Amino acid sequence: MSMTSVRGRFAPSPTGPLHFGSLLAAFGSWLAARSAGGEWLVRIEDVDRGREVPGAAESQLRTLAAFGLDHDGPVEYQSHRGHLYAAALGRLLDAGLAFECHCSRADVAGAGGIHRSCRRGAHRRDPAMRLRVADGSRVAFDDAVHGRVIQDVDRAAGDFVLLRTDGCWAYQLAVVVDDADQGITDVVRGADLLDSTPRQILLQRALGLPRPRYLHLPLVLDDDGRKLSKSRASLPVDDADPLPALRAAWHALGQDPRRLPAKVSLPATLEAAVRAFDASRIPRGPIAATAVHNAAA
Ligand code: GLU
Repeated sequence: MSMTSVRGRFAPSPTGPLHFGSLLAAFGSWLAARSAGGEWLVRIEDVDRGREVPGAAESQLRTLAAFGLDHDGPVEYQSHRGHLYAAALGRLLDAGLAFECHCSRADVAGAGGIHRSCRRGAHRRDPAMRLRVADGSRVAFDDAVHGRVIQDVDRAAGDFVLLRTDGCWAYQLAVVVDDADQGITDVVRGADLLDSTPRQILLQRALGLPRPRYLHLPLVLDDDGRKLSKSRASLPVDDADPLPALRAAWHALGQDPRRLPAKVSLPATLEAAVRAFDASRIPRGPIAATAVHNAAA
């Protein structure tokens, strides 16, 4: 156990090989944990079986190893942790905080995509389970990069899904249960999840779980301003040559390039990075992929 008891994690969904954007999340969360003398866990978020790509989790783990981003403890798989999500849902149901919903996708779409009450008479064989989000459910939290974030969860997300009609556990429930169960103190991840965080905080409150600190990293956009994961710039990073991508990620994290010595081994580069990492330099972004790659070249 580390002296400071910081525990971070990287939680990729196995939807493909790691690209530059996911490397940034891995490297950023690893640096934040290691520079605090803390632990870093890896969790494969494979609850959405429909989106899973066979072999992707293994490829992601190979890439982390090739980049020297070592983790503590065994890799956890959400597909093996359904009993924990079921227990949490059971507690929410018992407390009247979750409910069975028979509305169809079209019913919810007809209400602007935000569920506030079930359509009367709607009935299907397989219901979804939703969290009951009271009117005026406002969540505020301080993100280490983005500052104060405030969301009216009732209006932004409504009664959100915990268990889908197809039997898959929803990301929001699984991530909250796992972060608490694994003792995660610091969640460092991409800013695309910034607007999910208030839902996760509501769930933590409903389940009586502690709230970790949050740091959302800048998004990397391609030349056309699209999220990297949706563009041709989302090429997998090269396991055989990690240093250029690591240097590019260091630059994208706003870190001082002079603190990474040139022409040294991967372990020496990582050691220097852990020593020099300064979270207060991380930009809000978004940042352009080409600018990052050019600067690191
Ligand atoms: N599994 C999510 C993703 O790959 C990340 C979840 C998280 O870090 O909270 O986008």
